[in-house]
Amino acid sequence: MQRDRFIEETPFFAEEHARLATSVANFAADEIEPHAHREEEAAADENYRSLVALLAQTGLLNYSVARADGLPLDARSLCVVREALSYHSPLADLAFVMQGLGTYAVSLAAPEHVRDFWLERARNGRAVAAFALTEPEAGSDVSNVQTTAEREGDSYVITGRKCFISNAGLADFYTVFARTGTRPDGRAELSAFIVGARMPGFRVTARTELVAAHPIGELEFDGVRVPAEDRVGAEGQGFALAMQTMDMFRASVGAAACGMARRALDEAVAYAKARRQFGVTLAMHQLIQEKLAVMQTELDAARLLVYRAAHLRDSAAATLILAAAPLSLGGALVLLAATGTDLNVSSAMGVILLVGLVVKNGIVLLDFAHMRLEEGLPLRDAVLAAARVRLRPIVMTTLCTLFGLLPLALGLGAGAEMQRPLALAVIGGLSLSTVVTLFLVPAAYVALARRG
Ligand SMILES: Cc1cc2nc3c(=O)[nH]c(=O)nc-3n(C[C@H](O)[C@H](O)[C@H](O)COP(=O)(O)OP(=O)(O)OC[C@H]3O[C@@H](n4cnc5c(N)ncnc54)[C@H](O)[C@@H]3O)c2cc1C
Repeated sequence: MQRDRFIEETPFFAEEHARLATSVANFAADEIEPHAHREEEAAADENYRSLVALLAQTGLLNYSVARADGLPLDARSLCVVREALSYHSPLADLAFVMQGLGTYAVSLAAPEHVRDFWLERARNGRAVAAFALTEPEAGSDVSNVQTTAEREGDSYVITGRKCFISNAGLADFYTVFARTGTRPDGRAELSAFIVGARMPGFRVTARTELVAAHPIGELEFDGVRVPAEDRVGAEGQGFALAMQTMDMFRASVGAAACGMARRALDEAVAYAKARRQFGVTLAMHQLIQEKLAVMQTELDAARLLVYRAAHLRDSAAATLILAAAPLSLGGALVLLAATGTDLNVSSAMGVILLVGLVVKNGIVLLDFAHMRLEEGLPLRDAVLAAARVRLRPIVMTTLCTLFGLLPLALGLGAGAEMQRPLALAVIGGLSLSTVVTLFLVPAAYVALARRG
């Protein structure tokens, strides 16, 4: 039984994360690592498919493939699984994460029957997924995508090229981002589509050899005709969907890197303890000890940063969970159960919690705008991109809370003497969250814009 003391000792995790880390580490050590040598073999594609099937069998893909109800994934679980898998097999980690990366936009915005069809197949390991955004001239500069999707009757015709696409040639379907129009500033208006690997006009033009076992390559779309029902989200929603996908999976890239770094450090320590030079083990030489100590320090720092980011991501996502729940009285009871306290306390707690979450979401919103600025987007676009991704859930939260918590406070079991203070607390809390959502956050935006 491998235990990870970092996870047990760090406050970003719940007990379930510690359990998950241990069980995935044991599973990967017993079931995956003994076969890892096969990763280098010629029939790597078949190995990859068996890895996806194995991950599906154990239920692990539930942590990377989002559910159909649009709820975000748990970022910490995603990171914990990726770190544990990549410690033993970076290829297994890739197989795990690509099923999620290739389907997240689908889970958020595809029409119901399309969404259910592909999510179920991806989660069961029956279809391998891929995410096709990058192009020769559109790497960091996502809105410079040149691949076009032109509407023709009930379908779209996709033409263009993609590069650096993981799972190219292996995937059964690709979530493809293409230009459906041009905005006034000349940048692409993007939309997302599901493209099946067998569609006429679709070709994998190259598979790129990497030092590590990692299926990756280039795609060509030569007039690929995609039914309009396979468009993911509204026309023009593609950029936001791509960013929401990145937002969900970004921290997990760091977690996978930490898994590999942790393995490298463990190997280095084991070697330093075994190899003898000048009559003692390498580990006895002070210079080697210092190197290992620095590596351990940097690894700890990296893990803290990664899991702090994942924890923040989950805290912001909690707003969405609460937003979805209190639409009804039953939903409000979920809030009650979550706080585990009596009605009077939990109502007030709920309000405080919600106000906190709304404020926190506002901060994440600003962070997001900063991030987009740093990625080189003009100020106005960065602000709009952030607003598109974040502002709507915050407004939803406020409205849902309004409908859910008021009946809870006014009508449920509270003694008559408590009803008035409770109602005041709820209204006060909601007013505050509304002020934050509708006025303070936009005001901060304007200040940010003025500062340039
Ligand atoms: C192993 C691997 C797997 C991948 N899998 C996929 C996949 O499945 N699907 C997919 O769509 N893409 C995939 N990619 C592509 C990846 O998302 C791109 O590499 C990424 O978007 C960066 O683009 P680029 O490589 O063209 O770098 P560039 O955009 O050319 O950037 C080069 C460097 O310049 C910096 N830079 C760029 N713009 C700015 C700026 N404004 N200010 C300061 N610095 C800047 C960047 O940070 C980077 O360090 C994969 C890449 C790799 C390496």
